[in-house]
Amino acid sequence: MDVTTHSATRRPTRQIHVGSVAVGGDAPISVQSMTITKTADVEGTLQQIYALAAAGCDIVRCTCNEIEAAEGLAQIVPRSPIPVIADIHHQYKMALAALEAGVHGLRLNPGNIRRPEHIKSVASEARDRGVPIRIGVNAGSLDPALYDKYGGPTPEAMVESAQQEMAYFDEVGFDLIKISVKASSVPLMVEAYRQLSAVTDHPLHLGVTEAGPPPAGLVKATAGIATLLMEGIGDTIRYSLTADPVEEARAGRQLLEALGLRERKNVDLIACPSCGRAEIDVIDVAKRAMDAFGEREIPLQVAVMGCVVNGPGEAREADIGIAAGNKRGHLFVKGRNVAVVPESEMVEALVDWAEFIHEHGVEAALTRVDTTLAEREAARDRSALLDAKGADANHATERIVEIRKTVSDT
Ligand code: SF4
Repeated sequence: MDVTTHSATRRPTRQIHVGSVAVGGDAPISVQSMTITKTADVEGTLQQIYALAAAGCDIVRCTCNEIEAAEGLAQIVPRSPIPVIADIHHQYKMALAALEAGVHGLRLNPGNIRRPEHIKSVASEARDRGVPIRIGVNAGSLDPALYDKYGGPTPEAMVESAQQEMAYFDEVGFDLIKISVKASSVPLMVEAYRQLSAVTDHPLHLGVTEAGPPPAGLVKATAGIATLLMEGIGDTIRYSLTADPVEEARAGRQLLEALGLRERKNVDLIACPSCGRAEIDVIDVAKRAMDAFGEREIPLQVAVMGCVVNGPGEAREADIGIAAGNKRGHLFVKGRNVAVVPESEMVEALVDWAEFIHEHGVEAALTRVDTTLAEREAARDRSALLDAKGADANHATERIVEIRKTVSDT
């Protein structure tokens, strides 16, 4: 078994298309986010959409809560680099206006558009235009009748809400559907999705709603979404964070890459947690390296390690890494020393070598310089460090005797 990727078999679902992006079936799991600008502010919204797309967002959602928003959508949709979904609450007429504006998808909350004739008129229009709809159930805004029936927002109540909406869609022959059953409670949403996936093969949109600000919000969203993805459930995801939506897109993308569900797009920075051995401020160097790489599309694994005693060994599998030693940075490519640079140039050197590898490959990088020279210098630094500080494991018994002696002498 390949243990580098997630192990569950993905649950088969039907495939729909949100504009150019396939969702469900064997399509890659997509990342969604939502703009926080007024949709009527066309330029501001487009700016945010471009930033989201650069951070890995595949599909974007904008609220359509007033006629000015629908008018904004008519201008945003043709200029957006990714498909646009209109988010509808309460006013079914806004759904019709968004369809008229040319959106690639709708999101309806069955808890707050409840009149069957309204639901069916939106579904009929979407059917005629071939536009998919997400049935977006939220534990916090269920039909009061379902709260009464189940005594609260239970997984069963959420699944029934989705099924009721599907039945209305079915009456008008509309089946371009994806479904979400979100809750802010992770156990509740996980169970609701599990139950839902057992009764439908429509693609599922995963999310923990109102997860809150990072880092707690990131932890909650990841706990819920990753648990389900590891069970093979889920076709598209959204992190709902109280933060710049770019963070949502980035987190979604990073989660899929970490689970081996999407190919790496940007640098995967691994860094040691630092410890008393660290020769540099690992947190600062890692942050500066992260900032330097930014959104650059360099799909390499890059390691930042605080010392040369354990660093290179621990990060042997990284494409490129740097470890601090004796006030210098030891650069290594696939575990082999290629250069030793002053500490102040570590980040710069890391970016330069990463760009070189991305462009020319690892083999070319290993012949770019005389590696024996770098290896010799690195070995010298390592042994100087060991001489100065001692290797933990070596001479441990003698040291303990020394310590005991010092203590008993005082
Ligand atoms: S690489 Fe060195 S500094 Fe970093 S955690 Fe390991 S021993 Fe400590």
